[in-house]
Amino acid sequence: MNIWVYIDHFKGSALPTSWEAVGVAKSLGATVTGLVLGSGVELVAKQAFEYGADSVILSDDPALADFRAEVFASTIAAASEIPDAIFLPTSTRGRELAAMLAIDLNTGVLVDVTSIELSGDKLVVTRPIYSGKIFQKETCVSKPQIVTLRGRSFPKPAPTAGKAGEIKKVAAKPEALTNVEGYTASEGGVSLTDAGVIVSGGRGVSNNPSLQPPAGMDEKAAEIWRAQQGFKLVGDLASVLGAAMGASRAAVDAGYVPYSHQVGQTGKVVSPDLYIACGISGAIQHLAGMRTSKVIVAINKDADAPIFKLARYGVVGDLFVILPELTEAFKKKLGK
Ligand SMILES: Cc1cc2nc3c(=O)[nH]c(=O)nc-3n(C[C@H](O)[C@H](O)[C@H](O)COP(=O)(O)OP(=O)(O)OC[C@H]3O[C@@H](n4cnc5c(N)ncnc54)[C@H](O)[C@@H]3O)c2cc1C
Repeated sequence: MNIWVYIDHFKGSALPTSWEAVGVAKSLGATVTGLVLGSGVELVAKQAFEYGADSVILSDDPALADFRAEVFASTIAAASEIPDAIFLPTSTRGRELAAMLAIDLNTGVLVDVTSIELSGDKLVVTRPIYSGKIFQKETCVSKPQIVTLRGRSFPKPAPTAGKAGEIKKVAAKPEALTNVEGYTASEGGVSLTDAGVIVSGGRGVSNNPSLQPPAGMDEKAAEIWRAQQGFKLVGDLASVLGAAMGASRAAVDAGYVPYSHQVGQTGKVVSPDLYIACGISGAIQHLAGMRTSKVIVAINKDADAPIFKLARYGVVGDLFVILPELTEAFKKKLGK
């Protein structure tokens, strides 16, 4: 079986899920070709070999400096010998590219897959449906079988330094109906989808009536001010643990933190080793984004909050009291 793996990267920095995808393709016994597109991306191609690719299809062109699904899809579709399957990470770019490729290659897509097995020459995948309440097995009857893989659902292979292979260069197909005029990068920090540990805050993070906002603030401004004090505690714990900071939709809708932090059905889908939910009730739409976390810890004032049904460890209490104590305890334990 021949599998192409799209190596998703931002300005030459590859997403770890790309290597997880190479690893799972190799584990199926396939011959794996890394798809590396961009400008000045020789290092990404080199890494693709080190993480296990047998060969690389490389399109290195200034016209590919910015990701455009239309251009990337037509460049890939024009490469000869379309394989049995194409794997992509379930990243924003990966999803968009998978859909475009499926149109260009007249095939189907299996999205956000959490496990894969081989039955003859067909891939049988498992993917969560109904907000993660059910895991469904699916196959794609057309070829190539296009699959996007959920981050952190498959092991990342160990790289073999210096491993090399054949590079096939293909020309970019830059003609497109859209052009990137520029973009603004969101603030840095640990990426939510790649994070091994996530500390998230919800509406409860603004609930500390004893905090007195500066004089002259109206009710809404005072709520946001309180939430900022609460999110500082969430951020302090995250920083000690080297974690990413997440949030519920209630928290981002209320303007406590930017939308880029939202976890859930309409936010990011995450699968860390440890997820700490602070002041989050556990609505089904939030659980849809984090229920595959390995260990879930909930801190909530309400002992009947639904999040406790999913959490392995629950702390019933006020996050404004518990978070500083937890942060101090971790600082001591980790010698920070
Ligand atoms: C179509 C659709 C899509 C949606 N998508 C998403 C999504 O992607 N992500 C998402 O999160 N939601 C999503 N929602 C919203 C979801 O239904 C909930 O409204 C939301 O998750 C609630 O956020 P919350 O838990 O922060 O707030 P709440 O439900 O208000 O819960 C706040 C919690 O904080 C606790 N609390 C209060 N004060 C404290 C304190 N001092 N210490 C400790 N605990 C405290 C309370 O006991 C409570 O349990 C979606 C809804 C719809 C309809």
